[in-house]
Amino acid sequence: MSEAAADRAEPAWRGGGCHCGGVRFEVLTGPEVLAQTCNCSICAKTGFIHVIVPEARFRITRGAERLTTYTFNTGVARHMFCSTCGVKSFYRPRSNPDGWSVNARCLDDTAGLTLEIEAFDGRNWELHADTLAHLSKEST
Ligand SMILES: [Zn+2]
Repeated sequence: MSEAAADRAEPAWRGGGCHCGGVRFEVLTGPEVLAQTCNCSICAKTGFIHVIVPEARFRITRGAERLTTYTFNTGVARHMFCSTCGVKSFYRPRSNPDGWSVNARCLDDTAGLTLEIEAFDGRNWELHADTLAHLSKEST
């Protein structure tokens, strides 16, 4: 799709959640979604595929009370996982603590979505984090 066509496409709220269904979320995206894999210590183990969005484009629709938060290192990132099934379907990323990172693997349905997946070098986070900072700003 051309850039102009992408601009015209209507964003839509798309649902997703953890494995047991206890935690549910919705994220507002257009049909073309930029996403990142990451090789940092935690993402390498979980296989999280990041879709980073501004605060207003994300909402928890069920199970906020089921979330357990794990932090490490700087403690800025808030890794939230379902206390029943253990799946982390979204979290507060260190690169964008004013927004959210949704796990593309936890979306219900990616039909109609084009994921453009780029590799983020999280092992060298300090060198590259500024390339993600704009993703939680409304202008993007
Ligand atoms: Zn669950």
